[in-house]
Amino acid sequence: RHFDQYSLSEEIKRALHLLKYETPTEVQGEVIPKALENQDLIVKSQTGSGKTASFGIPICEMINWEEKKPQALVLTPTRELAVQVKEDITNIGRFKRINATAVYGKEPFQKQKEDLKQKTHIVVGTPGRVMDHIERETLELDQVKYLILDEADEMLNMGFIDKVEAIIKELPADRVTMVFSATMPKDVENLCHQYMKDPTHIEI
Ligand code: AMP
Repeated sequence: RHFDQYSLSEEIKRALHLLKYETPTEVQGEVIPKALENQDLIVKSQTGSGKTASFGIPICEMINWEEKKPQALVLTPTRELAVQVKEDITNIGRFKRINATAVYGKEPFQKQKEDLKQKTHIVVGTPGRVMDHIERETLELDQVKYLILDEADEMLNMGFIDKVEAIIKELPADRVTMVFSATMPKDVENLCHQYMKDPTHIEI
């Protein structure tokens, strides 16, 4: 397996080369081709498997640089993960000049509001703070085409289910949804069943 076998732009391939990602990990081999075909995916995989790039590569590939409003939303359970995912996406999208913004609690709202005012292609955030930005109208989601729930089981364990559902309801129905979770408890399955279109299951 090699990244060259996927239809990725030169800008993305160049970034993978710089990151020294030569061959796709197992989860990347499963997720990338299906995500590039706009399939909804439920992925059971652990951290350390390369799951961040498995969604980061296809969403960076699909981003239209010209569009001013966010096109992808990634929800994470913690601010540490939000910052990590934002950094990974920034590295993958560097030659496309993709702008990712992380929003999370305990950092001043105002600074994030200013960040979101700049052209932001991808927003990564924790559910509480993302909802705050929606309510205060500092985050517009009407151009979102990709929704990623990262560590969905952890998000629900932390009591974020109502927030996650409220956010999903703000998104265009015409979108691709990818859910990543180490375990598949009933409430994760229910959420997927309710808000995804004929999802493909991937288990690593
Ligand atoms: P993750 O599971 O997303 O936290 O990724 C685990 C680690 O694997 C990170 O340090 C990534 O930079 C690295 N990584 C992801 N994909 C690849 C790849 N295809 N080749 C080499 N390293 C990778």
